Amino acid sequence: MKCRICGKKAVIHLRQHNLALCREHFVERFERETLRVIRRYRMFTPEERVGVAVSGGKDSLGLLYLLHKHGFQVEGIFLDLGIRREFDYSSLSRQKVEAFRDRYGIPVHIVSIAEETGKTVPEWARQRRERRVCRVCGMLKRYYLNKTAYERGLGVIATGHNLDDEVATLLGNTLRWDHSYLVKQGPVLPSPHPKLARRVKPFAFFTEKETALYAILQGIDYVEVNCPFSEGAKSRLYKHVLNEIEVVSPGTKLRFYQEFLRFQREHLATPQEVQYATLRECRICGMPTNLEVCAVCRLRGLDKVATETPNP
Ligand code: SF4
Ligand SMILES: [Zn+2]
Ligand SMILES: [Zn+2]
Repeated sequence: MKCRICGKKAVIHLRQHNLALCREHFVERFERETLRVIRRYRMFTPEERVGVAVSGGKDSLGLLYLLHKHGFQVEGIFLDLGIRREFDYSSLSRQKVEAFRDRYGIPVHIVSIAEETGKTVPEWARQRRERRVCRVCGMLKRYYLNKTAYERGLGVIATGHNLDDEVATLLGNTLRWDHSYLVKQGPVLPSPHPKLARRVKPFAFFTEKETALYAILQGIDYVEVNCPFSEGAKSRLYKHVLNEIEVVSPGTKLRFYQEFLRFQREHLATPQEVQYATLRECRICGMPTNLEVCAVCRLRGLDKVATETPNP
């Protein structure tokens, strides 16, 4: 197959666009489209400092690399979750992120959940007798990403979510008709509070195949294994089903997502209009929460310590 632009050997056939591209033209298109999405959705400007949540995987490292290459003021945030089941997933990820940081000279801020809270993510899940480690993990990740961004003066957090991630989430939200998530899903989630960063997903319209190829063509060394706790996660089933459909009907994923966004704009409240429950600041840590004490301070038992400590 030949590149439609220059006729050289193609490295990819984008079936959803019926477009074959060589290495050079694929990279050029990928970067151009990412910058277009950033502008179109007003994700951030070159004047803003942007935190990029990096996991050590192809999407987030590729995103940090691309934004740095195009002159954005970026810094990575890596959360060491302490996941060591079957293999040392967190250390492996951390090594890749540190090697990336040293190779490209891009700042990456590393936060260890165990150092911050006294326990790793799986240890907190065990203590809470929570079989779904992802629940506890998601809560801690959201909290520490926001807290780190806030402390570092970053008003926006970019994540490497790709189209496959987005449509799997969309399918899950649709199967449950989860209105509260459907109104908020999309490439941009505005900040509902000065201490919560705006969330943006510049790769939301690229398939996993495209983001992986971009990282490979740039020579980025990334973690190729998934978190061991992702085994059996529903999102993996949804991705599998959507891939099967995509084989028979190329472009389904992109249409599903784009048409959803159109429907959301026309019939659901836009994220800007979503009325968040009144957020106040946690009595203990000061981060935004719906309750008097935030979920992480409660997980850590800090509310009990605060109550039990006698007044001097
Ligand atoms: S799969 Fe679950 S446990 Fe693993 S990083 Fe993701 S949310 Fe955390
Ligand atoms: Zn070409
Ligand atoms: Zn708190």
